[in-house]
Amino acid sequence: MSRFWSPVVHNLDPYVPGEQPKMANLIKLNTNENPYGPSPKVLDAIRLATSDTLRLYPDPNATDLKQAIADYHQVAPNQVFVGNGSDEVLAHVFHAFFQQQAPLLFPDITYSFYPVYCQLYQIAHQAIPLTDSFEIKVEDYFRENGGIIFPNPNAPTSRLLDLAEIEKLLQKNTDSVVVIDEAYIDFGGETAIVLVDKYPNLLVTQTLSKSRSLAGLRIGFTVGHPDLIAGLERIKDSFNSYPLDSLAITAGVAAFEDKTYFEQTCQKVISSRKWVVRELEALGFLVLPSEANFVFATHPENDAAELSAGLRKQGVIVRHFKQQRTEQYLRITIGTTEENQQLLAMMDTLI
Ligand SMILES: *Cc1c(COP(=O)(O)O)cnc(C)c1O
Repeated sequence: MSRFWSPVVHNLDPYVPGEQPKMANLIKLNTNENPYGPSPKVLDAIRLATSDTLRLYPDPNATDLKQAIADYHQVAPNQVFVGNGSDEVLAHVFHAFFQQQAPLLFPDITYSFYPVYCQLYQIAHQAIPLTDSFEIKVEDYFRENGGIIFPNPNAPTSRLLDLAEIEKLLQKNTDSVVVIDEAYIDFGGETAIVLVDKYPNLLVTQTLSKSRSLAGLRIGFTVGHPDLIAGLERIKDSFNSYPLDSLAITAGVAAFEDKTYFEQTCQKVISSRKWVVRELEALGFLVLPSEANFVFATHPENDAAELSAGLRKQGVIVRHFKQQRTEQYLRITIGTTEENQQLLAMMDTLI
C-alpha cells in the first residue's frame, strides 16, 4: 500500500499466475505448458533473427505474422489482431467491447483473469453457473447482456462445447460481442473461426502458448470481423504500438509454417491424455471429459488439497483452486510420458 497509488490501484484484486518455481527436477504440471519444446524450425528462425537488426523497432503491424495466421485459418489479414499473449489480446477486447450498460456474462467456473479485467476496466458482469456436471448450457446465456465470453474447452473444467451449440448462441445473441477463448482448441476441438464470416459480432481468440509450445514468447491473436479488429487496433495504438517483438513475429510465422511438428506434438499430448485419464480412473478418480492438455479430476475418498500437498512433497506440482464448487478437484497438466508415469506412481502412494 502506498499513498501515491491512484484509487483504482487500491481496489484491484490481481490475477495470480501459476507458480514458476526455480527448483530443479520438479515435475511441473500446474500451468498447462506444452511438455514438448517448440518446433526446431522456430528455434532456427529465432537464431537467424538474433542479429544487429534487433536495434530496429519491430513491424508495429506484425504483418508477416498476421498473414501466416490468415493463411492458416483461411481468413483475410484484416480479420486478425495479434498481441503479447492472448491475455493482452483479451485485455484489449474487454476494454474495446465490454464496457456496456448490461453486464458481461461468463461462467461461474472459468478463466480467473476475466473478473480481473472487469475490475480493471470497471465492467459490470454476471457469473452464469455451469450445470452440475460442469457444462456450459447456451440457453442460460439467452438474456440481456453487454457481451459474452468463455473458453472452449472451458478452463479449468476441460469440457468442450460443440460448434453447433456455439452457433445456436450466436443465432440468438446478435447485439453484443461474443468471445470464444480457444486457448486449448487444438487438443481435440473444432475452431469457431469458421463462423466469423457469418457472425460479425464473433471474436475467436487463440494463443501460441499451449499447442505451439511458445508460452515464453507471449504470442496471442484473435480473429473476427474487420470492424472489430479495427476497434482493437485503435486500443493497441493508444497503449503500445509494438506489443510483439521481432523475435516473436519471426518465431510465430515459423510456428504456423511447421504444420507437421504442430500436429505431431498435439497428437502426442492427446494420446498421453487418454492414458492419464484411464490410469486416474483406475485409481478411483472421477475425471471430467477433457479435450484440453489438462484434466480436471476429483477423488471421492481423498481430499484434493491433501493430495496436492502430498504430490508437492514428492516434487510434483498440480493446480488446486480453492473456489467453492471446485475445491475437491485437481487440475493436472498432461506432461511427457515419463512425467505422467511418475505422477501416477506418486498418486498411487497417496490414495
Ligand atoms: C493460457 C490461457 C490464456 C492465456 O494465454 P497467453 O497467450 O499465454 O496469454 C487465455 N485463456 C485461457 C483460458 C488460458 O488457459
